[in-house]
Amino acid sequence: MRTERVDTNYDFDFIVIGSGFGGSVSAYRLAEKGYKVAVMEMGRRWTPESLPRTNWELSRWIWRPNVALRGFFNIRIFRHVLILHGCAVGGGSITYANTLLVPKSTVFENGSWAGLADWNAEMPQHFATASRMLGVRENQILGPADLLLKQAADAAGIGHTFYRTNVAVFQAPQGEPGGGTFPDPYFGGEGPERSACIGCGGCMVGCRFNAKNTLDKNYLYLAEKRGVRVFEETRVVDVAPRNGTPDGSQGYEIHTVNSTALFGAQRQRFTCRGVVVAASALGTLDLLFRLKQKGSLPRISGQLGNRVRTNAESLIGVRVPGSSEDLSKGIAIGSGIYIDDETHIEAVRYPEGSDAMALMSTLLTNGRPGWTRILLWLWNLAVALTRHPIRTLRCLRPRRWARESLILLCMQTVPGHVDMRLQRPWYWPFDKTLVTRGNRVSTFIPRANEFASKAAALVGGTPMSMLTEVLFDIPGTAHILGGCPMGATPADGVVDHRGRIFGYKNLYVCDGSVLAANLGVNPSLTICAITERAMNFLPEASKNDWNDSPEETRTE
Ligand SMILES: Cc1cc2nc3c(=O)[nH]c(=O)nc-3n(C[C@H](O)[C@H](O)[C@H](O)COP(=O)(O)OP(=O)(O)OC[C@H]3O[C@@H](n4cnc5c(N)ncnc54)[C@H](O)[C@@H]3O)c2cc1C
Ligand code: SF4
Repeated sequence: MRTERVDTNYDFDFIVIGSGFGGSVSAYRLAEKGYKVAVMEMGRRWTPESLPRTNWELSRWIWRPNVALRGFFNIRIFRHVLILHGCAVGGGSITYANTLLVPKSTVFENGSWAGLADWNAEMPQHFATASRMLGVRENQILGPADLLLKQAADAAGIGHTFYRTNVAVFQAPQGEPGGGTFPDPYFGGEGPERSACIGCGGCMVGCRFNAKNTLDKNYLYLAEKRGVRVFEETRVVDVAPRNGTPDGSQGYEIHTVNSTALFGAQRQRFTCRGVVVAASALGTLDLLFRLKQKGSLPRISGQLGNRVRTNAESLIGVRVPGSSEDLSKGIAIGSGIYIDDETHIEAVRYPEGSDAMALMSTLLTNGRPGWTRILLWLWNLAVALTRHPIRTLRCLRPRRWARESLILLCMQTVPGHVDMRLQRPWYWPFDKTLVTRGNRVSTFIPRANEFASKAAALVGGTPMSMLTEVLFDIPGTAHILGGCPMGATPADGVVDHRGRIFGYKNLYVCDGSVLAANLGVNPSLTICAITERAMNFLPEASKNDWNDSPEETRTE
């Protein structure tokens, strides 16, 4: 095999697009192997001082830079699904709820990744590495919301399934209170000092107490120590093979713009030998569709955008107006239960004062989606307001929402997906944007709704659900996955089992878009583990022949 020396005319050996779970793992592992790496991240860098105190500080919470909102949390609504996702140096880790669970091994037996590798033999070591790097430990701080979940599970006869979540949070040694500062507990002194969690429930609004193990405290921190350059507020808009080579064998040219400039976004150009696209399911689909359509990367498989999954999720909850317990205390997701083999529920909370999400919640309403459900919701609302006007208004007001609410995050391993395309929608003829297609994803899980109703009755609360689920039959998810399916050939996937894009050399996708099944658990640990595996195959920088392209593995 021909071995080329790394061409020093390239700005970088690898450019990684996105600094979330897939991007940070890639950057660190590439730097460890001796590559010169840059990370392009369109979000901002956050510190405990710059994070918002509550999510009413919209300009520091929400990401909509074209209207001067430069936070780290984004909400996008599509015809089939409402998607919550992160955008920052550290990707979704800045806003996520730290819960890192290993999915059941059966998830690898379905979907387009089935049979592409011996997953159950290979993945445990990568899950173990990712868990160690992220500092995963069982939650030691059960808050009132967790105890309420346990009480409701006991009453429903499923108390034995209650468990404390595994979380990426630095917690005080046994018997010591939270808040103390400790020298790097994870990386033998190479990492930053940490403070022990105080159980304020604020993880999803950003940890201001240096306790949450966000990526900028582990993978990305260590990557930067090894010389990786992170270009923040820098959005990649073009990736094209250099020198007219159709397959990228002579590297790539990357064009970026400043993502937070209101006017005159500054354009920059970089060159590199290899690229890792790690812009999250939505970011990667948006970018790759644009690159395919404008002819920069025309060989990308027509499978792009197929089989996007929502983790079969539904967000419901219980509100207890006037609750004597402060349900906002604890770790954002502190515990979980299984109501059946395929349905998993976690106890979630926002910190005191972070009541903005109340604007998206309403009284839980069962029934078939459509007009009948809307009428039933209006009827429920009218009955509740007539019978218990004060109580109902207290349930619907934003004030004290976080103190009084137990959010129930329901996830299922059931199959189901939508497809995404980049199109000009009828309501926005100016620019193309991602749209969803296909069959509707179920907006309610009857057994989960039943559980929420019983839990509410137990504590004198009211069952709640998301307004978009009731009114528009649109489920909400923070776990959007898939769209760049793994496959044996370009006819059935965009990437192979190592994340290599069919049709190109040294071009990878490593993020949630390559996951091929509803995991039924929070996905970030799986994204890290899959990326650890993909990077593990890459040779040391000095041994790279820069000829890495996917194998077509189907033999029949
Ligand atoms: C409120 C909330 C709570 C969550 N809680 C949990 C949890 O407890 N456990 C769990 O496992 N998961 C949780 N998640 C989901 C988790 O955050 C995501 O699954 C995960 O972050 C996805 O990782 P990723 O590598 O695919 O992309 P991300 O982590 O989303 O990173 C992608 C990055 O790419 C950047 N980017 C996109 N396009 C471009 C571009 N063109 N140029 C430059 N940069 C770009 C984005 O700004 C982003 O920072 C939660 C999500 C939310 C929103
Ligand atoms: S509960 Fe509070 S202190 Fe603990 S990790 Fe979350 S935000 Fe940080």
